[in-house]
Amino acid sequence: MKCQKCRDKAVIKIARANAKYCAACFNAFFVSQVRRGLEREKMASRSDKILIAVSGGKDSLALWHVLSRLGYETAGLHIDLGIGEYSASSRRYVELFAERENLEVYSYSLKEAYKMGILELAGETDRSACSACGTVKRYLFNKVASDKGFPVLATGHNLDDEAARLLGNLLRWQDAYLEKQSPVLESEEGFVKKVKPLYRLSEQETAAYAFLNGIPYVIEECPMSVDAPMLVYKKALNLIEHQSPGTKHQFYLEFLEKRKKEPDRFLPKDKKDGRVCQECGQPTTSQICGFCKLMNKPSFTGRPAAS
Ligand code: SF4
Ligand code: ZN
Repeated sequence: MKCQKCRDKAVIKIARANAKYCAACFNAFFVSQVRRGLEREKMASRSDKILIAVSGGKDSLALWHVLSRLGYETAGLHIDLGIGEYSASSRRYVELFAERENLEVYSYSLKEAYKMGILELAGETDRSACSACGTVKRYLFNKVASDKGFPVLATGHNLDDEAARLLGNLLRWQDAYLEKQSPVLESEEGFVKKVKPLYRLSEQETAAYAFLNGIPYVIEECPMSVDAPMLVYKKALNLIEHQSPGTKHQFYLEFLEKRKKEPDRFLPKDKKDGRVCQECGQPTTSQICGFCKLMNKPSFTGRPAAS
């Protein structure tokens, strides 16, 4: 198998593009896809500082690697969820990468800050761990980015994540979520701009990029993810992709194109006005934000800043 660009030995085959690449040409392809996403969706200007939410997994670390190679000023933000060895190991990979690349990282431990991890926090409410985790991450990502002066927050969501989410929303006809499903959410009413520069690249491609660039990452998935519906949607899409390469790409990127052409078609009819949380001053759509509702219980010990 030879690289279609340079005829050297190919190390990866990308079925959807009917392409085979050697390591150097694959890296060039990967970086060009990220650059294309950044430019096409106007994700960040050259002068924007980008805060990257890094879990310790392959996607977020690959993203951090590419953005710093492209010359952006970046820093990482890691939330330690306090889920036993999984969280300890995730944090080690993030700190290892930051040290190796000489990049700044803000680490935020729920256990250090609130004396409880996400499982205990969710256990005190009627929320699932993933639902509480989503609220906490959304809140802290936005708060730390605003407090530290980053106009843009980037996450490592890839094509598989976005296509699975789109499938889930369509299966339940959750029209209101379609407006928000975008690789870019512009900054508005106290929220910093949020971008997903890996939206054109599959999970297999980000894993290959991490491997070929010697990026160590946590391989285990979060133990809470075993029952996540997203995994079922991903499996279903992989089955279709296997039979018909390119379907996943077409499914998600065509959705984005259609929405650009007909934006009104995807606007929720009951869009609520933005407000400010009465407890913490962060943006919200109701009187008290989701994070403060979650934290509003006797064991809540304070509101520390990320270190
Ligand atoms: Fe959070 Fe659930 Fe994802 Fe684990 S699987 S990181 S608990 S959202
Ligand atoms: Zn609040």
